[in-house]
Formats: sequence, C-alpha cells, structure tokens
Amino acid sequence: MANPSLLILAGDGIGPEVMAEVKRIIGWFGDKCGVTFDVSEDLVGGAAYDVHGVPLADATMARAQEADAVLLGAVGGPKYDVLDFSVKPERGLLRLRKEMDLYANLRPAQCFDALADFSSLKKEIVAGLDIMIVRELTSGVYFGEPRGIFPAEDGTRVGINTQRYTTEEIRRVARSAFELARRRNNKVCSMEKANVMESGILWREEVQWVHDNEYPDVELSHMYADNGAMQLVRWPKQFDVIVTDNLFGDVLSDCAAMLTGSLGMLPSASLGAPMANGRPKALYEPVHGSAPDIAGLGKANPIACILSFAMALRYSFDMGDEAARLERAVETVLADGVRTADLMGPEGGTPVSTSGMGDAILAA
Ligand code: ATP
Ligand code: MG
Repeated sequence: MANPSLLILAGDGIGPEVMAEVKRIIGWFGDKCGVTFDVSEDLVGGAAYDVHGVPLADATMARAQEADAVLLGAVGGPKYDVLDFSVKPERGLLRLRKEMDLYANLRPAQCFDALADFSSLKKEIVAGLDIMIVRELTSGVYFGEPRGIFPAEDGTRVGINTQRYTTEEIRRVARSAFELARRRNNKVCSMEKANVMESGILWREEVQWVHDNEYPDVELSHMYADNGAMQLVRWPKQFDVIVTDNLFGDVLSDCAAMLTGSLGMLPSASLGAPMANGRPKALYEPVHGSAPDIAGLGKANPIACILSFAMALRYSFDMGDEAARLERAVETVLADGVRTADLMGPEGGTPVSTSGMGDAILAA
C-alpha cells in the first residue's frame, strides 16, 4: 500500500522555522518507528507571491486536493501589506479552505498541567482541561445573502448580514462533531440561540436528527450560546466536544483558547467531506500567525505546529497511538521546565530556541 501523503506548506515568517521542527519529527517517526509518509513541499502566501505572483499557484491547489492531508505553517508579513487584496498572502489560505470545502474547524483547548498558571483562570478550573470546539466554517452570517450597507427608509443607512443555514450544512458539521466524539469521550454539546433565532431552531432540530438517526450512542446536549460562553469560563471541564455555528464558534473558540495560555501552543484542523479512503479532506495549522516581530530569531515556539501534526496523525492517518506519543513527549518536556520565550513566567529563566524545543521533544 502507498504511504500516506502529506503536503507541507510552510509559508512565511516563523512558518518555515516551526515547520523545520515538524520535519525532524516526521523523520524520527520514519527512522525509529518505520512510520513513513510521502512528504512533498510547496509554497503558499508571500513565499508563493514572490515566485509566482499569486499567493497560491493552481498547481499547488491541485496537489492540496490530492494529498491525504495538508500541513500549513503561517502566511503574511509586513512586506506584503502594500499588495492588492486579491493577491494578499491570506488569500492563499482562503483559497485552500474554500476549494477544499473545509466546513468543520476544530480548535482544541487543552491545558498542560505545567502551564496551568498561564491561564487567566484559577489553576483548578483549567488543570487537565481537554475540550474541542467544532466551528462551522463555510456558511452562516459571514456568508449569507443579502448582505451590504444600503440606503434606509429614513434617509440614513442600514447594514445587513443574513444568518442562513441549510439542513445539509448543519448535518455535515454535526457529523464531524459526532465522529470526533466517538474518538474521544462520546459527548457533544451543541450551542445556538434557538430561543431567538430561526436558524438556531433549525440547528437544534437537525443536530438532534443526526444524533437520533446516525449517532444514538453519543451523549448529546443543547445549550444557548450565551450560557455556553458563561459555562466555558465558569467550569470548562463539563464539556468535551462543542459544536456550533460560524459566528458563535469564532467567539467561543477564542475564549476557550485563552483558557490555556500561549498562542504558541494551539493547534487547529479544518476538515471537509470524506474522501475515497473514508478520511476527511483536511488542513492542519497552528492558530498563531507568521509573527513577523520574532521571525528569523529562532525564538518561535514550535509546539502549536507540532501539535497540529499530531492532530493530522489522529484524524487523517488513523495513528492515534503515534499522536498520543507525540503529545506525551510535549507534556514531558513542559513538565521538565523546558520553555521557549513565550512560555516564560515572571520568575524568568533561560528560554530555549525553536530548535532547542525540537531537540527536547525528540529526546522525550
Ligand atoms: P495573523 O493576523 O496572521 O493571525 P497576528 O498578528 O494576529 O497574525 P501572530 O502572528 O500570531 O498574530 O502574533 C501575535 C503575537 O504572538 C506576536 O507577538 C508573536 O510574536 C506571538 N507569537 C505568535 N506565534 C508564536 C509562536 N509560535 N511562538 C512565540 N510567539 C508567538
Ligand atoms: Mg490574528
């Protein structure tokens, strides 16, 4: 059987720096465990613009469609701020998401014990936290028509956005959440505002329908999204998988992210429809951006990108054991007190470099 294929798009800024550590880890899996991938690399963002004059070449797009998974670093940087919107680095990422039709955005919020002090909340509230927010990414109020700023009847203006969800759009993201729950703790909480929004009523009914007809073994609860925001901050460990729409997911996932500390720690996945092999189309990337302020200095924390690769192992390659092994290595290194600069507390100490963190994780 052919090796699973992985397309690496390191991108700009600290993207290539953190990706270098992932490549070493991929090499380690090949050398020490006989787990090998067909890895190919290509350009995205400013790096692609510099060579091709566009932030994502058609040939790269085609390779992304064929790969079992895509792993992306980061795009953008001050050098590209002057470019026309149509060729801005971010457009490369948007094109990937749109053409691969990645409708389910997975944002884990996991708190490593060694970093519990970094949370804005009390340690007992976040220690051991491990939840996953599934945000619908391609529809809802950010895309619904009509939208625009129009003349109003009173001679002033009116701004309009439309929250719109079809049955199928809700059902497919619900399925992503239930699939995920089966690989975790079999529990989903769906969040909307069915008390005041028609789309919220449909959301609740369709998520319930998918549950009753396809995933009756998974525990399902419903919560109004405003209460959900409150509960996330009050006692986040009551949740496991949360599924919600594009707008609420945008807000709730940022909120959940800050339960756990540094931006340099947070991975993400965006999943689409199942491919012929049964696995979803998938793009994995750290939540952080290209961090131009520290690019080229060897200061970047590679853990978000490394944990994104761990998500790829689990969700695209069915390698849950290998993913857990990699996550345990990260946990061990943090428990040992190894810290990149972004993870230094007020007590200070000597930070390790990007590759120093990679060394420690490989050793663990
Ligand atoms: P984007 O618009 O691409 O999301 P941004 O401006 O919102 O980018 P980042 O590029 O993520 O944000 O950077 C925000 C801050 O976090 C910067 O000060 C950056 O140095 C820091 N930062 C981001 N990622 C990392 C990382 N992996 N390691 C250390 N610091 C990081
Ligand atoms: Mg940002």
